[in-house]
Amino acid sequence: MRYEGAIYRPPSEADSLILQVTIGCSHNKCTFCGSFKDKKFRVRKFGEIKEDIEEAKAYAKYIRKVFLADGDALILSQKRLLPILQAIKDAFPKLERIGIYGNTKSILNKSVEELKVLKDLGVGIIYLGVESGDQVVLDMVNKGTKLDDTAEAAKRVKDAGIILSVTVLLGLGGVERSAIHAEETGKFLSRIDPDYAGALSVILVPGTPLAEAVKKGTFQVPTPYQLLEELAIMIRNTNVTHTFFASNHASNYLPVKAWLPEEKEKTLKAIQYVLDRKDPALLRPEYMRAL
Ligand code: SF4
Repeated sequence: MRYEGAIYRPPSEADSLILQVTIGCSHNKCTFCGSFKDKKFRVRKFGEIKEDIEEAKAYAKYIRKVFLADGDALILSQKRLLPILQAIKDAFPKLERIGIYGNTKSILNKSVEELKVLKDLGVGIIYLGVESGDQVVLDMVNKGTKLDDTAEAAKRVKDAGIILSVTVLLGLGGVERSAIHAEETGKFLSRIDPDYAGALSVILVPGTPLAEAVKKGTFQVPTPYQLLEELAIMIRNTNVTHTFFASNHASNYLPVKAWLPEEKEKTLKAIQYVLDRKDPALLRPEYMRAL
């Protein structure tokens, strides 16, 4: 297998074969993200991808999940994507699911019918970075998306019968928009009603515009307890039908996992317990936080 640069994958793809079908992120402009800054976006040649699949075939009996990297591999056209999915399907008879990162644009480039074709070829889950339900915050961090478009993209994924897993980012509105970012994000999660929602916390990546803004004093990262307040506001404002919500990522100060709405009150009480005590021993230490 040939990998170019650092490879990122969702935690739930830890046991997947990672197949790098694109290099970098086609957007690559979010002010908080340093993941693909060292890569110029390009699509890998089908021949190279096929060689990687052939190499992995030696382990075919163990491969049940495949994750397509990098940042938004779903940006590939159907013409490019279908042969890749077919080759994966042919190579790994025990395959149960293919996962892929998508963004609003890459999803909206496909109709529900086209997404259904992807599903028939094994795509079982699409990971979508929503980041915030506050349009002011999205514009501020140069996400390049409009909430109505993201809601439509989320709907298409669900209409195609593909699992929708989204991430949001605590602290992205800074201290100034902390409460509104949390409230609007909770409401937006309710609007798109994802199967999975993960809340990460902002970590400053050196060299990114957001890290520079902090240096200049134009952006202030909320304190750990302000981030916990955000988490509580966000959860309080969710009104979903059946979503697994997790903020157990290494960037978070307090790991939370809950089925919403079933465990909403219990979870809010647990967060309030930590907020009332303000005991640092109840939080993940700073040195253990990571992206
Ligand atoms: S956050 Fe996602 S869309 Fe934005 S630059 Fe990073 S990988 Fe690309």
